[in-house]
Amino acid sequence: MENYRTEQLNGSDPVAMEKACALLKAGELVAFPTETVYGLGGDALNPEASAKIYAAKGRPSDNPLIVHIADVAAVEELADISAIPDTMQEKAKHLMEAFWPGPLTVILPKKDIVPHATTGGLETVAIRMPSHPAAMELIKKSGIFIAAPSANASGRPSPTKAEHVMQDLSGRIPLILDGGAVGIGIESTIVDMTGEVPTILRPGFITKKMLTEMIGEVMIDPALTEPDKNLRPKAPGMKYTHYAPQGELTIVEGNASAITDRINTLCAEKASRGFTVSVLATEEHVAAYTCPHVITVGNEADGATVAARLYAALRECDAMGAQYIYSEAFDGTELSGAIMNRLIKAAGHRVIKV
Ligand code: AMP
Ligand code: MG
Repeated sequence: MENYRTEQLNGSDPVAMEKACALLKAGELVAFPTETVYGLGGDALNPEASAKIYAAKGRPSDNPLIVHIADVAAVEELADISAIPDTMQEKAKHLMEAFWPGPLTVILPKKDIVPHATTGGLETVAIRMPSHPAAMELIKKSGIFIAAPSANASGRPSPTKAEHVMQDLSGRIPLILDGGAVGIGIESTIVDMTGEVPTILRPGFITKKMLTEMIGEVMIDPALTEPDKNLRPKAPGMKYTHYAPQGELTIVEGNASAITDRINTLCAEKASRGFTVSVLATEEHVAAYTCPHVITVGNEADGATVAARLYAALRECDAMGAQYIYSEAFDGTELSGAIMNRLIKAAGHRVIKV
């Protein structure tokens, strides 16, 4: 892999934008802000650019990339929507109208123009239209369909600030467009439209309820909710350990006071043996902890504030050298499913029920 002197430039500066477009057209990679997390972009129709994305992230090559577009007409170019039943076609179009631009990715049969290097060898393609102005501008000005996974090193928490991208990919890519902290903080909801019933392959900010209100019945990929380890998730990326901080993360689940009691006990025990320990807690509970390093992750009653802070909080644990991390379960809001999906993976499924 080439060694780059990675530049971090303001994404709203026209000169930086020009530079980013030129790099993309030349088959190079550019990290850029989206409303969900930062993306690592390359030309989706250029297999060599896709190969560079996998190399820069250290991502397994069977884990497909999402193609970002700025205009609904692009769907026709990338996907053979006529290959799915009429009712599913209508539902797919309805979802695009309702949620694009925004944090929703739709899986459709691919056309030949999309290389297998971008789809991880699959005959389907994942498409999303982001709403972030810098992402939109980059796609429109470059005239390129941008394949972009999250701009973290594979397995690390997704980046929600340009600095996070620099931590993981410095020297591996030429340019990061800085758009400040992202708004949503967790990856897009992925809906597969190639089967009989629309199916959520990855939960996200667009919830099952929001989808059902638009198009009726929606399933969740059983591999996401069933404890059966033999079920393979339909989104290849969902099978990997993910989002993990360097320390050992454990989630404590139960009623609020039982959680704080147990976490205080666990922290005291680890600290007495000389370990560095941190705690992830919502604003409402922070004062109840006796541990020295408590990191606030949003408000208990507002899932969006937890989503926005989650990955940055995991990275803060790394920055302070935490060897053990205890997190409250973030239950009870519309976004709990999406948040806990990430947190449980980050914890390698270590959950204590109290
Ligand atoms: P990331 O780009 O890091 O947000 O990851 C993209 C996610 O989309 C991964 O979990 C992929 O497995 C999933 N994905 C992308 N394309 C497809 C596809 N054609 N079919 C199913 N899942 C996909
Ligand atoms: Mg990712």
